[in-house]
Amino acid sequence: MKWIGYALGAGLVVAGLVGLVMDSYPEGWALWFGGVLVVHDAVLVPVVLLAGLLVSRADRWVRAGLIVAGTVLLATLPTVLAWGRRPDNPSILPLDYGRNLLLVMGFLAVVSLAPRLRSRTVGLGSLAGLAAGLLVASLMAVNGMIDLGQWALFLGHAALLGAVLGGFFGARLYNLANAFACGLLVGLLAWVLWQLTLLPVLLGGHPMWTIQSGDFRALVGEVLLGGLTGPLLFVALRRAPAPAATEQARIARVVIVGGGFGGVGAARRLEWFLARGLRADVTLISDSTSMLFTPMLAGVAGGALEPRHVSVPVRAMLTRTAFVHGRVEKIDTASRSVQVAGGAAVPYDQLVVAVGSVPSFHGLPGLAEHAFTLKTVEDAARLRNHVLGLLEAADLDEGQRPELLTFVVAGGGFAGAEAVAELFDLVHGVLHRYPGIRPEDPRFVLVHAGDRILPELSASLGAYAREKLARRGIEILLGRHVSGASARAVRLREGDEIATRTLVWTAGNQPHPLGTEADGCLRVPGGNGVWAVGDCARIPGPDGVPYPPTAQHALRQGKAVADNVAAVLSGREPAAFRYRSLGVLVALGHRTAVAEIRGRRLSGFAAWAVWRLVYLAKLPRLENKLRVLTDLAFPRDVAHD
Ligand SMILES: Cc1cc2nc3c(=O)[nH]c(=O)nc-3n(C[C@H](O)[C@H](O)[C@H](O)COP(=O)(O)OP(=O)(O)OC[C@H]3O[C@@H](n4cnc5c(N)ncnc54)[C@H](O)[C@@H]3O)c2cc1C
Repeated sequence: MKWIGYALGAGLVVAGLVGLVMDSYPEGWALWFGGVLVVHDAVLVPVVLLAGLLVSRADRWVRAGLIVAGTVLLATLPTVLAWGRRPDNPSILPLDYGRNLLLVMGFLAVVSLAPRLRSRTVGLGSLAGLAAGLLVASLMAVNGMIDLGQWALFLGHAALLGAVLGGFFGARLYNLANAFACGLLVGLLAWVLWQLTLLPVLLGGHPMWTIQSGDFRALVGEVLLGGLTGPLLFVALRRAPAPAATEQARIARVVIVGGGFGGVGAARRLEWFLARGLRADVTLISDSTSMLFTPMLAGVAGGALEPRHVSVPVRAMLTRTAFVHGRVEKIDTASRSVQVAGGAAVPYDQLVVAVGSVPSFHGLPGLAEHAFTLKTVEDAARLRNHVLGLLEAADLDEGQRPELLTFVVAGGGFAGAEAVAELFDLVHGVLHRYPGIRPEDPRFVLVHAGDRILPELSASLGAYAREKLARRGIEILLGRHVSGASARAVRLREGDEIATRTLVWTAGNQPHPLGTEADGCLRVPGGNGVWAVGDCARIPGPDGVPYPPTAQHALRQGKAVADNVAAVLSGREPAAFRYRSLGVLVALGHRTAVAEIRGRRLSGFAAWAVWRLVYLAKLPRLENKLRVLTDLAFPRDVAHD
């Protein structure tokens, strides 16, 4: 049992840490904290935590069931296990268990209440608690349960109970019965925390975590207090006028444009708030029905992954958000609506623009017509089909072979480095099926304007990557600029011309035309309820330098903008976005990669393993993870359109 406890605790600590490091999501804190306590000695704590997490995520009826089941479990398990019946601890609850339980509950209460302390539900909750407390305290005094001094203490405690009730459940109390049930639950918890724990300690004694020593009249008092406070709060929330500045007056329409990392990240976070009582209609409009997991896009171009497996249907990721498949053509901030191509205008109160970036050819001649871009899953599939088509042609046509088998990638950032490595692996992975082509025939060229590839990484890792690619036979042209392209050649500004049928352009992206500047809180200045996140937005960091256009930033900005939209709808101030990049991971093919994570450098197979694990973990949905794993188990295929 002890070792199971330790293993569970260690697992929770690791899961919590991974969550904290990768996403800093609040559950990460809870898991980590629970793990630490379990490793310490309290095996039951994770039950509390998991129950709390499930309860907070589930729907109404499931939530009610979980609350009942969790309460029964917590109340009976120690008895069933006959724990704690030691001579020095007459309680049916082991002292460690009780103490840690309190710690966890206190921790969760502080974390959950902290951001809401100024809210109207907390204020009204404490007033409702005070009113119910007056009545219950009078009854208790009549029964000789409390004296005058304890009256004041009890009233303070009643106001606190009301504040907790308002903070946790306030916005979610949807009818009198539900308010009564929530009140009873809080009253029950108050009995354990107040009557059995804090009050005895305040009166100079010890906590009384025993059924025997517990005063059942006090239990009745607490349950009565909670049971009265809930309905009183419900009525108060209904009756008290909600000032527009502090509480939303009607259901707000939140529209998100773009179904990528930023848009879906925002929608998922808003759903989290919806489950906790935020009153809003959330609609996501995107011209793609799925969210593309771009870190695996080069794998699609390289034929290692199926296009559908790295795309996750937006509808499958969102449960409380309305989805509209369409392209937004115009944002009208005057009428507060967005115009969907071929459809009606969609009105909004709050608008999140997350439309990403588009390739930029800097006006270079021939690029728009002849270069391949790597932005969408269609781009990647088109490139793969094109390369396989060239292999077919080159197998038969010896004269044109050098031109057919020369592959040029422009841009030595992570997208370009990954693309050239994947193309190399694709061609060499299937070459044995084309007997007319010798392994030395294909030529791969990476053209980069800077003096070193992968400028996102330290110089030493960039040099390592360059050496790895070069050793495989990939030519790296540094300080060279593509100046134009035709169907059969790429021209360089420095004078050379490379005969090729394949130019992959990763050397320029620009914010989408609907994109815009945003302030540190992700608000579009003068936008009147418009926010912008991800690649389409220029968002200044604390030092004024804009955040880089990466998925990890877009995802965090999506969450942050949802927090800010929810804050504004609840009459609070939005917070500035702060995020320090975790680092960069770049796959170089052949089971090698380079990684720089929070200043730590990794290269070779270890970096590749981290890269695989991190991106598999980050890929949404178990189904997609399993499909990608299956793809990786098989060799590359040569069937193409
Ligand atoms: C090949 C490649 C590899 C990459 N690898 C990494 C990596 O390893 N790590 C990393 O951090 N970043 C990586 N990135 C960068 C990362 O993909 C972007 O930073 C990230 O996708 C930006 O997220 P976003 O939400 O701003 O935009 P996107 O994810 O591009 O989403 C934009 C969404 O808006 C939709 N849209 C566009 N226009 C409209 C319109 N008019 N109306 C409605 N919907 C519209 C699009 O369909 C899309 O769903 C890579 C990018 C590429 C291209």
